[in-house]
Amino acid sequence: MTATPATTTPTPATATTTATATDAAPGAGAPAASVLDADFYGFQNLLSAREQETVLAVREFMEREVRPIADDYWERSDCPVHLFKPFAALGTVGAAWSETAGFASSAVFRGWIGMELARVDSSFCTFIGVSSGLAMSSIGLGGSAAQREQWLPPMARGDVIGAFGLTEPLSGSDTAKGLRTTATRHGDTWVLHGAKRWIGNATFADVVVVWAKDTADDQVKGFLVRRGTPGFTATKIERKQSLRIVQNADIVLDGVEVAESDRLQGIDSFRDLANVLRVTRDGVAWQSLGTMIGAYEAAVAYTAQREQFGHPIASYQLVQDKLATCLGNITASLAVCVRVSQLQDDGTQRDAHAAMAKSFVTTRMRETVALCREACGGNGITLDAGVARFFADAEAVYTFEGTRDMNNLIVGREITGHAAFA
Ligand SMILES: Cc1cc2nc3c(=O)[nH]c(=O)nc-3n(C[C@H](O)[C@H](O)[C@H](O)COP(=O)(O)OP(=O)(O)OC[C@H]3O[C@@H](n4cnc5c(N)ncnc54)[C@H](O)[C@@H]3O)c2cc1C
Repeated sequence: MTATPATTTPTPATATTTATATDAAPGAGAPAASVLDADFYGFQNLLSAREQETVLAVREFMEREVRPIADDYWERSDCPVHLFKPFAALGTVGAAWSETAGFASSAVFRGWIGMELARVDSSFCTFIGVSSGLAMSSIGLGGSAAQREQWLPPMARGDVIGAFGLTEPLSGSDTAKGLRTTATRHGDTWVLHGAKRWIGNATFADVVVVWAKDTADDQVKGFLVRRGTPGFTATKIERKQSLRIVQNADIVLDGVEVAESDRLQGIDSFRDLANVLRVTRDGVAWQSLGTMIGAYEAAVAYTAQREQFGHPIASYQLVQDKLATCLGNITASLAVCVRVSQLQDDGTQRDAHAAMAKSFVTTRMRETVALCREACGGNGITLDAGVARFFADAEAVYTFEGTRDMNNLIVGREITGHAAFA
């Protein structure tokens, strides 16, 4: 593991060393795979050699396929949907599920993959994560054995892309109680009425997991709505200034019919849905970490080559203070992400653990991307210095999967015993 101390003249922080990894146990003297300078304390050594090899393959994919096109797609607010299948071929999309995992992997590894995606493009991380995280976790945790067998393998291969429809025009933070979309059972068919907002991938997804209240018992249930089902329309939300590559949609559900066999059989209430959100909140913490690393690496590179007063601005104390603060934020956030994922693997993770990780890391992310932007001066405002996209994207990541307020209220409830949501 090598790392560039923030107190020396920085080099552009990309992968620094390469060696072939073998299948050694985690950290047991496995040859170092390429490491990131931003991994200052060498957390990557916690991954098994097999996991490190896969991380490297993902990193190379992102550098080769996504980095060269990200700014252009971001400016056009377009999504490189064609890259889903080639990305899926790397074998990480179904890594969490027994039906689709190529090898046994840790939650730390799966989080790390999200970080690698976001480090190059936070939108790409969201695009993949909505399907591989939110949609597949809904089916993996809430589906019957038959539903898992039917949906997870094609989703892992990238033959089927998923979306996750929870938020509504009139219900965001209060979805636990405020959902207005209804599902009414008639024999073996459910009929859905309502509207959803902000649903990523929904304009092209093959299946949207729609969350609705059963009119019989008022409980939240999950439905697999297939593309092209009559009564379902998805309209792209335009003029977004964050995660512009992600295609978010307003959805209308006007008498959409769903077979009972496409209702998630293991979901009986919002509590079951909360289990999905707990797992995916970890993923957003890792995504936030990747977003700040992407901005940090660009700021390190920019400040090394930009000269003012006859010297690189990286040689000035105030610039180094910003970079050191960013590296501190990254390192602390990486520690939080690693530990909260280990709790997931141990089976001891509680809602408040995941909520605190999301809240803490997104807050550090917001400070970090702003400092990186500041360190790049006026050029930091354009896409060219490599920071502005991360700066803008951080805002949506800060807000989705529970705002900082909501996640801190979950932590606050655990600290005090008082639920203070309303
Ligand atoms: C780019 C993007 C992608 C998204 N993708 C998806 C997706 O794929 N699927 C999906 O289902 N959803 C998605 N969302 C929705 C996202 O989860 C919601 O935006 C988020 O949960 C916040 O809800 P809201 O926007 O309605 O804000 P609101 O709930 O209206 O909140 C507005 C403000 O009020 C604060 N607030 C609300 N209640 C309280 C309270 N009790 N106490 C203190 N403060 C409070 C909030 O913290 C926030 O600051 C996405 C959102 C964005 C921006």
